[in-house]
Amino acid sequence: MYLSELTRRDLLKSFGLGVGAAALSAVNLAPQTARADFVSQKDKTSGTLLDGSQATPVKMQADGSIVRPQLLLPTICETDVLVVGGGPAGCCAAIAAARLGVKTTLVERYGHFGGLCTGGLVVHILGHWTLEGKEKVQATQGIGEEMMKRLEGLPNGIVNREFGRNPTLDAEAYKYLLVEMITEANIEVFLHSWAIDAIVDDKVDSTTGNPIVRGAVIQTKLGPQAILAKQVIDTTGDGDVFAPSGAAHTQRMYNIGLPYRIGNLDRAKPQNGEKPPRHLGDVTPVPGVRWVNMTGPSLDGVDVKTLSKLELQHRKQIWKQVQEVRNTPGYEDVYLMETAPQIGVRITRVIEGEETLKLEDAKSGKKFEDCVGIGGAWHGDHIGWQIPYRSLVPKNVENIITAGRSLSAEPLMSDVVRVIPNCWVSGHAAGVAAALAVKSGVLARNVSIPNVQKTLLEQKAYLG
Ligand SMILES: Cc1cc2nc3c(=O)[nH]c(=O)nc-3n(C[C@H](O)[C@H](O)[C@H](O)COP(=O)(O)OP(=O)(O)OC[C@H]3O[C@@H](n4cnc5c(N)ncnc54)[C@H](O)[C@@H]3O)c2cc1C
Repeated sequence: MYLSELTRRDLLKSFGLGVGAAALSAVNLAPQTARADFVSQKDKTSGTLLDGSQATPVKMQADGSIVRPQLLLPTICETDVLVVGGGPAGCCAAIAAARLGVKTTLVERYGHFGGLCTGGLVVHILGHWTLEGKEKVQATQGIGEEMMKRLEGLPNGIVNREFGRNPTLDAEAYKYLLVEMITEANIEVFLHSWAIDAIVDDKVDSTTGNPIVRGAVIQTKLGPQAILAKQVIDTTGDGDVFAPSGAAHTQRMYNIGLPYRIGNLDRAKPQNGEKPPRHLGDVTPVPGVRWVNMTGPSLDGVDVKTLSKLELQHRKQIWKQVQEVRNTPGYEDVYLMETAPQIGVRITRVIEGEETLKLEDAKSGKKFEDCVGIGGAWHGDHIGWQIPYRSLVPKNVENIITAGRSLSAEPLMSDVVRVIPNCWVSGHAAGVAAALAVKSGVLARNVSIPNVQKTLLEQKAYLG
């Protein structure tokens, strides 16, 4: 029976209002095969005409409701650790896990890695310094530091690496470096793959009573496809996998901007006595090129109407700002090189973790037994704050953890957690924890913390 033949009541029941498999069989709902099966491999070169009979379109019911058919999804990959989202946190997580010898798969919706740091043109590495007593030390070590070191070896890769400064990297150099590091670590990669759902086991975990995540569904040009995993790390920044898995979280609003780069600053001839124009931004590793950050309004970063409106608004504003620069005597050659292809969403979904980071705790230097990293501060110098492993672990779902900007933190603390070096650190920790959970065959929440800490130290992380 096709879904379109079901009554609306049956549909609501089958779509999760407490009625599970029994209800599905009661209405004899036979899942159809997903669109991914449309074109067999051998058809691709011959260009066989497809008659459309296998199509499984979304149906409009008689009452106007729109219903997606139940589909049998092809499984395109089975892995140990699945990392969804290849930004700063996700890349560190995947590299850390893969270096521990478990099969690691990295899914990314765009065609490159680096997240906001590359696609969002957020190139300034903030607060990775901290105080130990009166002495300033670098909190971000491990894979994050390795990345910065390797960028130093690339032409125009990074500037301002001197002790105590906040460096700025080049987005293209970082994209290249990530390809290098991910390839070296032998990570299986799915690009152009947008995670749209979590795969959750029919049965709950017998010890905790919580649902268990078994993988994620990605949307590809061939339709939805399943990736199965022993452990999942959601580093989409927006909780695109933990949210549909049923993990408790808060959904927040924060400033959404659109950074950009301007060129030809080396040709500028500031006029004597004239005020330099506004919006000249900051230095980058490329001579004559500067990046300009934008704060933008505080709105809902997962609402597509909001994002669309802001893209239009920000692009107009940027064009105007650059013309203002060009209209200033001596700056006529300055031009808009590039706007970030990806809008700058700062905070959206934040997981409800076993532990929630609080600004007061960070300021008072609260210690956690399960510390898996030290965060830096970008609001001035203060002692390093600890990242407890439990802030990566959701309260009510098994075998999915998070890292990066969506880890469990109260709003003021999320603003500190989200900066790039802190995402490197929490990503590194998440990768190690997930890999060790796979190796020891335990739930992610039960992984041995001393082992995680020992392994992080072996991978040159800094734990204070
Ligand atoms: C405008 C702006 C300015 C900022 N300025 C600074 C600054 O000066 N210094 C600083 O240190 N930090 C700054 N930040 C913060 C910092 O850039 C981010 O918080 C940080 O990049 C977050 O890293 P992440 O890995 O958690 O997430 P992200 O960088 O957002 O990476 C998430 C990755 O997941 C992918 N993804 C998302 N959804 C899906 C999906 N459903 N399926 C598959 N892939 C998916 C994305 O494409 C991306 O690659 C700024 C942020 C913004 C927006």
